[in-house]
Amino acid sequence: MSGDTRHGVGVSPGTAVGPVVQVAPPVRPPADEPAPADAGAATDLVLEALASVAADLDDRAAAASEHARPILKATAMIARDKGLAKAAGKHVGAGLGPAHAIAAAVDEYAAQFEALGGYFAERVTDLRDVGNRAVAAVLGVPAPGVPVLTGPSVIVAEDLAPAETAALDRALVVAIVTEAGGRTSHTAILAAQMGIPAAVQVHGACAIPAGTTVAVDGDAGAVTLDPDLELLEAQRVRRERRAAALASVSGPGATRDGHAIALLANIGGVDDAVAAGAQDLEGVGLFRTEFVYLSAPTMPTVEEQAEVYRGVLAPFGSRRVVVRTLDAGADKPLAFADLGEEENPALGRRGLRLCQARPELIDSQLEALAIAARDTGADVRVMAPMVATVEEARWFASRVRAAGLPKAGVMIEVPAAALRSRHVLAEVDFGSLGTNDLAQYTMATDRMAGELSDLLDPWQPAVLDVVAAACAGGAWAGKPVGVCGESGGDPLLALVLAGLGVASLSMAPSKVPAVRYALSLHTHDECRALAELARGAATAAEAHEAVRAAAREELAAIL
Ligand code: PEP
Ligand code: MG
Repeated sequence: MSGDTRHGVGVSPGTAVGPVVQVAPPVRPPADEPAPADAGAATDLVLEALASVAADLDDRAAAASEHARPILKATAMIARDKGLAKAAGKHVGAGLGPAHAIAAAVDEYAAQFEALGGYFAERVTDLRDVGNRAVAAVLGVPAPGVPVLTGPSVIVAEDLAPAETAALDRALVVAIVTEAGGRTSHTAILAAQMGIPAAVQVHGACAIPAGTTVAVDGDAGAVTLDPDLELLEAQRVRRERRAAALASVSGPGATRDGHAIALLANIGGVDDAVAAGAQDLEGVGLFRTEFVYLSAPTMPTVEEQAEVYRGVLAPFGSRRVVVRTLDAGADKPLAFADLGEEENPALGRRGLRLCQARPELIDSQLEALAIAARDTGADVRVMAPMVATVEEARWFASRVRAAGLPKAGVMIEVPAAALRSRHVLAEVDFGSLGTNDLAQYTMATDRMAGELSDLLDPWQPAVLDVVAAACAGGAWAGKPVGVCGESGGDPLLALVLAGLGVASLSMAPSKVPAVRYALSLHTHDECRALAELARGAATAAEAHEAVRAAAREELAAIL
């Protein structure tokens, strides 16, 4: 009998077994750190800590991907900066303990970097990372962040920043488990995109001792400590049954009676594009361009961007690639596209609003995309994030057309755009429902707040009503509406969305086979009936249950 099983929310399908590697949180200097008895010895401790941080970052750089290496090397240089060491030494001389001295020197430097602006201001995050690591080193506790992995590992953390998740080594990370996060937090999205089984909201996960073997079920959201052979065998049988069912259908997505629903990939960069391009799917429904630049300190040049976009477009040949222009801000901060602190960033100048304040961001992207489209001959379609009004849609479409790109679309992820989609879509060629943000804004619930995940449930009937309104507006305007939020990758919800009239479903590639299978088992009329059932329900749980009970049994058998 297997030991302890912890339950959370499954966000990236698949199962995996491996030893736990805990991601240590940042440490603060202890409030009761004594003043140094021997200032010389305390200064040496500071210097040793900074040197060990620099050496560790160099080691990580040597093992990192081409993309992450220069960032880690530049961060190691900050740890070696003589001025930083001198400033910390001065604070030791003034009576601060080594941990507080490092923190004070970092604060001082950060203020100077921010005042200098530009490139320096963009290095403040790296500087603080160096400070956190050096404080951990003087205290003799594990360095914060993901440690260097030496073998297959299950990464366990309170939560992971998008940049941390993106930098994970796919070859060694077999599963991800977090205590916080939610279905639509960017850690969950990135894990699914990377094809790494993942569970979030797993209470007590951070207390699992490092090295414990765990079995992670990314569908059920379960984490079992010290799994026995019986459990591993049951997981194997389930995996094989599911694989056989999913392999029984291939090709373009369609309902049982042949109504086409295009199945597309959500991707975040060239590696994802190469992997997705080799799979049985009809193209890309969402390329989150901001994911390419999560760690970029400065704005990439047009030619640098064009190089990335060529790499993304090429694997898809003549298949469509829907590129979303930068969606920076709120939970996806970019160092070079930051308009400063806001009280409520999710309601502030993020997405298209930020690009309207800094048009050079969007214009350089569109120019680079036009170059890449010309060079590859790809079927490129461009869409804007966070559109709320007709004016915004019009502004975006005119810039896309001015750049010589053939098709402009908008994401429908703000209830205002969904309710007025008939007018908003009249300005563009297509719409794409971002159900992650649409749920956030419809339910007035921060998508990062894992503890509110019941409110964010995409089965919430209010969210389904807003989606239905957007689809009705699309039908009226004669413009196709797809889905690129996480809900499109849930096989049961995909049936409801098909019933509401969407023309395409875009998701992490690992989710495509189950959605294709679900569609192939039901006629379009059956999907419509399932949509009616869901919208007729009083609660999210009842909507989910009603559709599960009414869907074909073959589908329930593999969920
Ligand atoms: C969405 O909001 O549903 C979406 C697809 O965009 P993102 O998750 O990147 O905000
Ligand atoms: Mg969004």
